[in-house]
Amino acid sequence: MALSKAAVRVIDSKVEEQPVAPLIRDLLGRLGEDPQRDGLVRTPERVAEALRFLTSGNRTDVHRLVNGALYEVEYDAMVVVKDIEFFSLCEHHMLPFYGKIHVAYLPQKKVIGLSKIPRLVDMFARRLQIQERLTQQLAQTVQEVIDPLGVGVICEARHFCMMMRGVEKQHSAATTSTMLGCFRDRKDTRDEFLALVNHNGNGH
Ligand SMILES: [Zn+2]
Repeated sequence: MALSKAAVRVIDSKVEEQPVAPLIRDLLGRLGEDPQRDGLVRTPERVAEALRFLTSGNRTDVHRLVNGALYEVEYDAMVVVKDIEFFSLCEHHMLPFYGKIHVAYLPQKKVIGLSKIPRLVDMFARRLQIQERLTQQLAQTVQEVIDPLGVGVICEARHFCMMMRGVEKQHSAATTSTMLGCFRDRKDTRDEFLALVNHNGNGH
């Protein structure tokens, strides 16, 4: 399968070897902290490890992830996986945004193992993101991998960069959606999806 639109860039493995901890130690100093004080001595290593994990989606191979989990079936009803929890980092502030994602597709020949959908969510959430792109990449990947008649993805999220910095708190919750194929073209399909996730458009 060719992943054209939602092309996944696999970061060079050399990136893995670049030490991050010394930069964090330097950063702590520049923020007016004493990197040598008890509570902070091991912090740079912990932050480095956390950041590697939180960006590990960059190094996940979608082919390997879905490998062996695609099944040929005669099934033509909507498949919905709702309330998938996710945690991501906004690329503008490197602060968390988190929430729920609902994914639906209408199969034409294939379905995917249900547990793979949350893993695809993790793959696109664990990287520096914006909510709109996370929503779109997920929808396009489901479309390309499963080749269904259509895909719908709704993402409801809260953004720490809004919540913690005291700006525009009323906009800290945002909802984005991507509809492809019959989810875009057919109102009844879209409405069925919205009814199934009981979407109320107010964050989560
Ligand atoms: Zn932000």
